[in-house]
Amino acid sequence: MPVLSKESRITKTKALKPSEFIPTLCAALERELARLNEYNDKEEFPWDSVKALAPLGAWGMLFPKKYGGLGLGHVEYTKALEEFGRIDSSLALTAESHNSLCGSTILRFGNEEQRKKYLPKMARGMMGAWALTEPEAGSDAKSLKTKAELKNDSWVLNGSKTFTTQGSVAGVYVIFASTTPGAEGRGISAFVAEPGPGLTIGKTEKKMGLRASDTAQLHLVDLKLPKENLLGDLNRGFPIAMQILEAGRVAISGVSIGMARGAIEWTLKETMRRGGDEARGRSLRKRWAGENPGLTATQKIIAQHTAKLHAVRMLTHYAAQLIDEGKPFSFYASLAKLLSGELAMQAATEMLDILGDEARFMDNHVTKLFRDAKLYQIGEGTSEIQAMLIYRHLSSNLDLLLKP
Ligand SMILES: Cc1cc2nc3c(=O)[nH]c(=O)nc-3n(C[C@H](O)[C@H](O)[C@H](O)COP(=O)(O)OP(=O)(O)OC[C@H]3O[C@@H](n4cnc5c(N)ncnc54)[C@H](O)[C@@H]3O)c2cc1C
Repeated sequence: MPVLSKESRITKTKALKPSEFIPTLCAALERELARLNEYNDKEEFPWDSVKALAPLGAWGMLFPKKYGGLGLGHVEYTKALEEFGRIDSSLALTAESHNSLCGSTILRFGNEEQRKKYLPKMARGMMGAWALTEPEAGSDAKSLKTKAELKNDSWVLNGSKTFTTQGSVAGVYVIFASTTPGAEGRGISAFVAEPGPGLTIGKTEKKMGLRASDTAQLHLVDLKLPKENLLGDLNRGFPIAMQILEAGRVAISGVSIGMARGAIEWTLKETMRRGGDEARGRSLRKRWAGENPGLTATQKIIAQHTAKLHAVRMLTHYAAQLIDEGKPFSFYASLAKLLSGELAMQAATEMLDILGDEARFMDNHVTKLFRDAKLYQIGEGTSEIQAMLIYRHLSSNLDLLLKP
């Protein structure tokens, strides 16, 4: 995968008001759709689309204006990610991981010098990556093995990272490593790094979906970082990662909502074009016509998924609003992540059933969403991990069952 020179993709950001941003973004994404589909086919990172969206502020959505960002709140940001998810969930993952994972770690836990050094460049389109997961440490991230040792006033990192989004195309990396061996969650620290000697790109993954999103292994071999590249406090990396992932779950829910909306919308357009549910399999029509002769199978499926879409969107916006208000939100973030991931998968599956024969074609938008949706149930904490967290919250506070 070609890595373009960092400077060639840095573009000046236009000063858009937050209220203008989402409609402008939506129109720009629509214009990018055909090009993004080509990048998905070729399994290449969509640098042209990244560059085209940079002047709107898409790569600094959460960064304050003084760092070249748009300074959006989380509700607006979640709405913007919905638009990305509707059009292309690969670019949506890029937007989410760049802004919520790498960017937010530097913004929330970096010092002023680190923010000034990286955030304006990231806002202009220099990609950020966030490397926590390792071959033997996924859901159980605190068991990571990458080590960072302080030698002659420099940190020296050794280890391997896997599934790093933007791993092979980033200009800046946030990397988590053990600084106190054996201390697990109390001995991990976060670092900021740039491409260079000691940081080698390993295999870039061939994925069933999200084919225009870059996912790479990283090998750190005596990666030497200046002492000041520590992000946040020493040995506080694990709580930092968990806080970042909690907010990331709300953001990624926005993407999944967009995917479900895209699947319903494309299917509706297609079924209306064909004049109803003629393309739907006979067996489904027979099964449901018996129960409710006036209602076609297609209408029922579309209505059910639309109801779920609205419910999950409200829940996600509620969690985003809690973040904006500085209130505890992690329970709602897990609910939103669990439900939105399931919704995207179910909506894409059922919409493919409605589309019938068309579902076989690789260039069908819903087919692409179907391939992509599965991976949204895994990243930022799997559905099983969300269920575990929800249960843990409920077992200590039954009031969480009440209306928020
Ligand atoms: C497309 C994509 C992009 C990604 N991008 C990034 C990135 O940018 N940076 C990064 O650091 N990581 C990234 N990841 C990694 C992702 O966060 C991990 O894949 C995820 O945390 C799961 O880890 P794992 O794959 O090792 O699975 P495991 O942790 O090995 O889990 C395997 C299965 O066991 C289940 N399981 C595990 N533990 C438990 C438990 N305690 N209770 C019940 N069930 C359990 C899981 O739910 C899952 O079904 C990405 C992953 C994907 C798919």
